[in-house]
Amino acid sequence: MRVFYDEAFRLPLSSAELGPAIETRRADDAVHYLLREHAIDRQAIFQPEVISYEALGRVHTPEYLDAFQEPATLAHIFAVDASDVVGDELLRTVRLGCGGTVAAAHSTLETGLPGLNTFGGFHHAAPDRGAGFCAVNDMAVAIAALRAQGFSGRVGILDFDFHPPDGTSACLGKDPSVWLGSISGTSWGQLEGVDETVLPEGAGDTEYLAAVGALLSRMPQVGLVFVLAGADVLAGDRLGTLALSLGGVRRRDLLVAHRLAGLPQVWLPSGGYSTHAWKVLAGVGLVLAFDSEEPIPLDYDPLASRMNGISRTIASSDLGDDPIITEADVFGTLGGARRDGPHRLLNFYTPEGLEYALERYGLLPLIRRLGFSHLHVVIDRIGAYDRARLLGLDSASGQEGTLIELEVERRRLGEGTFLFINWLSLRNPRAAFSALRPQLPGQEVPGLGLAREMTQLLGLMAKRLVLDGVAFRPSWYHMAFAARHGARFVTAVRQGQFEALMRDLRDVPLLDATRLVADGRVTLNDRPWKWEADEMVRFREVPAVQPDAEAIALERDRCRFAVAPA
Ligand SMILES: [Zn+2]
Repeated sequence: MRVFYDEAFRLPLSSAELGPAIETRRADDAVHYLLREHAIDRQAIFQPEVISYEALGRVHTPEYLDAFQEPATLAHIFAVDASDVVGDELLRTVRLGCGGTVAAAHSTLETGLPGLNTFGGFHHAAPDRGAGFCAVNDMAVAIAALRAQGFSGRVGILDFDFHPPDGTSACLGKDPSVWLGSISGTSWGQLEGVDETVLPEGAGDTEYLAAVGALLSRMPQVGLVFVLAGADVLAGDRLGTLALSLGGVRRRDLLVAHRLAGLPQVWLPSGGYSTHAWKVLAGVGLVLAFDSEEPIPLDYDPLASRMNGISRTIASSDLGDDPIITEADVFGTLGGARRDGPHRLLNFYTPEGLEYALERYGLLPLIRRLGFSHLHVVIDRIGAYDRARLLGLDSASGQEGTLIELEVERRRLGEGTFLFINWLSLRNPRAAFSALRPQLPGQEVPGLGLAREMTQLLGLMAKRLVLDGVAFRPSWYHMAFAARHGARFVTAVRQGQFEALMRDLRDVPLLDATRLVADGRVTLNDRPWKWEADEMVRFREVPAVQPDAEAIALERDRCRFAVAPA
């Protein structure tokens, strides 16, 4: 198999962590997993080229391609605020993805090896418009590129995305040399040239796999196949209503791979809007490499695994651990006057060391793609805390701004010593709040979309400094909620309350819930109640049994939260 992948497949959208939007790390996660499992080696990964306007022009109208110059066009397609579309970077990502599908199609015809492009299957893009995260129709562009080079074979497209292939039908529905087969979970009416099966809401593995078998039996003889291995058929998908299991989706892909054995084929991820979406993409790789039905462990966290792996290749001496003890260090150790010169964060990290870490973990490359340059770290002290700030120039306004601000100290809590976060702010001063990007309580400026990376990074800092974990005081409900899986409140009473609050607000959307809590609109056992920013900790080594589980359960059962009428 050949895998087409580029780090720039991650969409440069700082708002992508909120709302129903895309899983931006899907390609990174899947490729990392396939390398780790030795399903592929680095030689099997190919970096695509940005697709040319000449190639796009064989499918899309000049007026539509012109409209890409307006940020509003892509903002509309990706359902983000126009302030989130930075320069040409989003367009470059889309063109790279399309380039990947074209390269995969050429490659599979040349070598006979299956091609897997890890960002593609944009089936809602029509010649003159885009929609639903699809700006250009990469399958149609690839077929037109092959035709321009003399390929005359019949082409099949098997579209297993939850949504109907309206764009592909508009591009190719009249082309007798292309056969379009689709299984969808919703109907958008009759689509020209599409053999479509629509399954009812809630349909599961058995029903779906029967439909797959039937569709495959109707597929004519073809010389090249595109497979849209959509992940939005999974149960719990934010934009889908089918109910497949991960095992069911894998069996779908095995069934298809067996039917296509020996045929030139290109696999594409298309849609997928759940935290498990990357597992479907990685699963395609496992099918093509090993014919494997082996599930991916449920609790496997590809981001943590990736960043841990990078951490092992960074020496402490790269980060600032200076073996030469200076006079200032001695004063510092003795608790005397701190040196006036450039500080080190927690007596360890130099500004250069933090810049190096942020670069290696991929945060600075992403922040550059969001439109900032001249990124550099400044370390100083503010009150009792060490402060590190990442500053950068906004390439549009030329103004310097703070992009990351972190205040920390070592703090003893209970039995352990923790990396205590007094303040952490990820800021994108270019972005604006809007209906698509609502302001959270306590937020001055929209974020960078890097909260998960930052959480991992802080955990790795605690590890590097041989601390027991990370501690912080969530000022708002949504901050504690975001940390709920790995972290807990220090006291059993507070943790029990928090678990009861999550239980009682489970049907309220998070944005509403955090506002209601912040506004004092939530009562505890029919009494007015106020959120307190107590200490939460995220241990490096999670104890298998919580010693105070009983006390937590007792408090959880005692607490009943309710939303008070306005
Ligand atoms: Zn879809």
